[in-house]
Amino acid sequence: MNIGGNTSCMEILPGGDRHFIIDMGTGIRELGLDMMGRGNIGRVNAHIFLSHTHWDHIHGFPFFVPAFIPGNKFRMYVPVNSLNEKLEDIVSGQMKYSYFPVPLDHMASSMEFIELKEGPPFEIEGVKVTAKYLNHPILVLGYRFEYNGKIVVTEFDTEPYSNIFNEEEEGDDMDDFLFGGSGKDSANVTSDEESINEGSKVADDMNRRVVELARDADLLIFDAQYTTEEYPTKVGWGHSTFDDAINVATQANVKRLAFFHHDPTRYDEELEQIEKDCQLKVKKMGRNDVHVFAAREGMEIDL
Ligand SMILES: [Zn+2]
Ligand SMILES: [Zn+2]
Repeated sequence: MNIGGNTSCMEILPGGDRHFIIDMGTGIRELGLDMMGRGNIGRVNAHIFLSHTHWDHIHGFPFFVPAFIPGNKFRMYVPVNSLNEKLEDIVSGQMKYSYFPVPLDHMASSMEFIELKEGPPFEIEGVKVTAKYLNHPILVLGYRFEYNGKIVVTEFDTEPYSNIFNEEEEGDDMDDFLFGGSGKDSANVTSDEESINEGSKVADDMNRRVVELARDADLLIFDAQYTTEEYPTKVGWGHSTFDDAINVATQANVKRLAFFHHDPTRYDEELEQIEKDCQLKVKKMGRNDVHVFAAREGMEIDL
């Protein structure tokens, strides 16, 4: 095993007893075992930030041993969705008896579920946290963690915002959606052009926000599920390409870019080759200041 196949989970350790965990994909099972070996059993106080509640980002949770240990405390930050479900139910639905033998309330640690929306930065145990929406079929939050002059940013699952008015067929419908239906019946060339211009301005603004969240990061963990050649058949699925990740990282002047959310059908050798090609590409761009690599299971990075 080199790259590894577990789904999304990572931990940030700013020092002291602080634990910041992002996502609860299958990787959290091994993180839990590692935490159990650290000697603070029953005294863990961790903050878990969910990018979103798609299955590959939560389905490791039933296997997270520290959640079964009395005395451990977990505060779980969950992006709201539009379905009006209780946060707890969104996370624990996968632990109903139809799917799993042990329900959430058999987990003996204490858990608090906190609804999170995009908003101004807030502070948790001295760490400044900024959450911003990304571009995915459901609401997804990207996170920026700042502590002691170091910055870690997570941006996945997301794909670049595109100009919806470039889709001719759908243009009028989306016109209604964004601008309250004005002008549909009287649409003419001018208003179409205006819509297209407005659409590309909106897309540019939204893409700029993604860059700004990553600005000057010491480590940016960014969605890179597809190659640019693969992307045209995956538009709208909510994932980016390696080139998109490089674009954001170079524009934002990040120091390290970790390609993340690897395509499950990709073999290690293929990904390692893509990694080399991307490193060459960034070098040719004259951007030796940006180190790019594929995220690997169990990888530890000191900032
Ligand atoms: Zn997703
Ligand atoms: Zn995902």
